[in-house]
Amino acid sequence: MAAHQEKRLAEERKHQNMQNDTKASQGQWGRAWEVDWFSLASILFLLMFAPLIVYYFIMSCAQYQCSLTDPVLDLLTGNKHLSDIWNRTPMLTYQAAAIYSLWVTFQVVLYMCIPDFCHKFLPGYVGGVQEGAVTPAGVVNKYQINGLQAWIITHVLWFANAFCFHFFSPTIIFDNWIPLLWCANILGYAVSTFAMIKGYLFPTNAKDCKFTGNFFYDYMMGIEFNPRIGKWFDFKLFFNGRPGIVAWTLINLSFAAKQQELYGEVTNSMILVNVLQGIYVLDFFWNEAWYLKTIDICHDHFGWYLGWGDCVWLPYLYTLQGLYLVYHPVQLCTAHAVGVLLLGLLGYYIFRTTNHQKDLFRRTNGNCRIWGKKPEYIECSYTSVDGTKYHSKLMTCGFWGWARHFNYTGDLMGSLAYCLACGFQHLLPYFYIIYMTILLTHRCIRDEHRCSSKYGKDWKRYTAAVPYRLLPGVF
Ligand code: NDP
Repeated sequence: MAAHQEKRLAEERKHQNMQNDTKASQGQWGRAWEVDWFSLASILFLLMFAPLIVYYFIMSCAQYQCSLTDPVLDLLTGNKHLSDIWNRTPMLTYQAAAIYSLWVTFQVVLYMCIPDFCHKFLPGYVGGVQEGAVTPAGVVNKYQINGLQAWIITHVLWFANAFCFHFFSPTIIFDNWIPLLWCANILGYAVSTFAMIKGYLFPTNAKDCKFTGNFFYDYMMGIEFNPRIGKWFDFKLFFNGRPGIVAWTLINLSFAAKQQELYGEVTNSMILVNVLQGIYVLDFFWNEAWYLKTIDICHDHFGWYLGWGDCVWLPYLYTLQGLYLVYHPVQLCTAHAVGVLLLGLLGYYIFRTTNHQKDLFRRTNGNCRIWGKKPEYIECSYTSVDGTKYHSKLMTCGFWGWARHFNYTGDLMGSLAYCLACGFQHLLPYFYIIYMTILLTHRCIRDEHRCSSKYGKDWKRYTAAVPYRLLPGVF
């Protein structure tokens, strides 16, 4: 009897240990399993205030010539009531709902129905079916990479309409900017809510789901890692790239068209913003296959942060410079314009080269040359949920030897250039650099925390070899 009980207890202990082991290895990467108070407070803050922040920026342009302080002063001095501001805000219209539905449907059709043909004739471009990184459950997803094609088709049609067909005015986006905001919010909330329900009821891969038990955290940070409908409709790839980033350049073009309509010319600052942000967007689509290896796809789960963020935050706040220039048409002197252009191009060069170095290094497993030399690196290893051990390498050469996230530094330089293109009269266009600094610093810390749990002591060796995060000698 005692022997039988001993055996049962031993089995229970073994089962418990197995569960703990699984949890420990699952906890090694991906988003958190447990929510601390600070994360919860930040999440509640963002859920409550992020939509208001977007509204505040857009409203202050529409009603206060982009002044961020005047609305507050008006309210504090009793000059205006909230209801006055709200009553002057355009509501959702049938026209905006029709434009937005058509836009999203068109992007879904481009994404799902037209397999990539660009990789067949563009040398160096990687498109068509590509594989993503190994997920924590050990799955390797396949993706149809056709974003460049979608971007080209959309923009060719945009220019064909603007210069030949005249079915609609190129100012259509600006003219419906606030009604479209309501549509974007509806889609953002709908897709995030759907993703949450899907995570509980019919996840694409149950092993790649995370439940913290905290409703708000799960809603914000997502449950499913790579939610899909059918084999190919991947939520992360579609929502980040299509309604968000394809729209970015169209929105800027619409703002430039509005300047032309209002003032009879497009200022050099507006051209600079269109060109520099256009390069960034085109780069994104040219390197869409590389994007499969970035944190958004490799590590973040799909929740409100990505769903609502891609539908609302990105198209509305990343385009603030163009919007500002519609209300304040700044004509820069040549020196200022050239300075902004050079800063933007240098930032882009650093951003692209750093990302390219890591991509090349990882693709060739270190069998490549970085700045003409054999790359230096640190060997590291990690374990996935099923206990499989993987080996990897962390490079310590090229820009990755200067700082651990020099790609973010380049991104920040480019972001600053967009803001500087708007002159120094108002704070609003500088929101972007402030936001990007917070985003990328936080991302840097978040990524390092994840890498540290993933690689353990190997990560310590790496941080000892490359001690700075963004700026050598400073941070
Ligand atoms: P990274 O491309 O820097 O990827 C970080 C990952 O790279 C780490 O998690 C680790 O992944 C791997 N890694 C880290 N150090 C090394 C090394 N020394 N050698 C090899 N691999 C390493 O980060 P992101 O995905 O965040 O960013 C990609 C780009 O997108 C950046 O240039 C960023 O500026 C930009 N970006 C832009 C945003 C915007 O809103 N405009 C938002 C976010 C990013 P592993 O587990 O594989 O080892």
